[in-house]
This record gives sequence, structure tokens and C-alpha cells, in this order.
Amino acid sequence: MGHPPDGSQLALFSASQREQAGKPELLGALADSAHACRACSLRAGCRSVVFGEGDPHARLLLVGEGPGQVEDEQARPFVGPAGQLLDRILLAAGFRREEVFITNVVMCRPPGNRVPLPEEVAACRPWLERKLAIIHPEIILCLGALALHTLVEPGLAVGRARGRWLQRDGSLVLATYHPAAVLRDPGKRRPVWEDFCLVRSRYLESARG
Ligand code: SF4
Repeated sequence: MGHPPDGSQLALFSASQREQAGKPELLGALADSAHACRACSLRAGCRSVVFGEGDPHARLLLVGEGPGQVEDEQARPFVGPAGQLLDRILLAAGFRREEVFITNVVMCRPPGNRVPLPEEVAACRPWLERKLAIIHPEIILCLGALALHTLVEPGLAVGRARGRWLQRDGSLVLATYHPAAVLRDPGKRRPVWEDFCLVRSRYLESARG
């Protein structure tokens, strides 16, 4: 299956299969399909489809923008300089990288690391929606404007959205700045740290509740 999942392809994830297959199996099947995707022109210019990684049962899912050069080379999300910063923030906030799930709005690297075009976001969106439907995390953390615009509200500024919980299909959503933006502007370190603390406190609260 080389195209994003749509109504005709949902047989792979039918209700009966959902009952029989667990999240790891469903996510694995989705990843296998995604690696053959050619639904937009980004695939022609990159090495890898960076599906995302982490715990299929994750209660916290992070969504960035798209793979960069290092991510494309390693076929893993957030492993370049911004990813290393993200790892440090996650750890400081009390999360192991393996216990969350990390992905991006688009799975193929845009040339020159430009922001993905609307048609590329639209083409890749069904993959993201399937990942969210399978994992169904309690908390979604949008890293940067593209994730916020794609998952919550087009045009909403991260600076205005951050600090308050939003809702999406039964998941709580919080927005913060992308780690790459923090690398460019150290003034964003503090607000990002506050946002991760907010996520941590909610994460612990819901575990107790
Ligand atoms: S960016 Fe997404 S939709 Fe475009 S080719 Fe890659 S996997 Fe397919």
C-alpha cells in the first residue's frame, strides 16, 4: 500500500482487526505501508520516510514539523541538534524517550528544511491521523506552529496557544515552541520548559486519577 490510508484502505484496520491486533501490530503495519508512500513530491528528494518512533502505548505523543538532514539519514525523528535538545528537555521533565511517541506532520524531508507546503501537509495528514487513532494518546504536544495548525487551528500562534489545554478527539493538546526555534532563540527556553512542566504535571495527575 503506497498511498496514505483512506476509506478504501481501512480494511487493514477494520473493527474486527482492531479487536484482534494490538497497537504495536497496527502501527507496524502502518509503518510498512508508509515506507512505500509516494503521495507527494517530497519523497523524490529524500532518502527515508521517517515514520516516527516510541511506545505504541504511549500516553504522550509529540508532533514536530518534518525530518531534517540527520533524521533523513538515520530514518529516525528528532535525532539532529534539535532532537538532542528535545531529549534533554524530556529527561529533565521526567520522561524517557522510549515511553513517549515522537513523530512529525510530514514524514519526508522538505528540501533545504523549508516549511512543508500545504499540499504536502494535506498528503501526509492521513498517515498522522492513523497514528493518532491507533495510539490514541492522552496528551499530544505540538512542537511548533505547523503541528498546532494541522491538528488544532490554522493560523493560531504558538505564543497565544501555549499554556492552555486544548482538546482533540479525546486527547488533550498543548502547544509549545519547536526545539529548533529554541536553538535559534534562547529566550524561548523558559516558556518551553514551563510547557513541559505543565505536561508532566498533567501526565502524573492522570496516572493517579
Ligand atoms: S511526505 Fe508523507 S505523503 Fe509525502 S511522500 Fe512522504 S510519506 Fe507520503
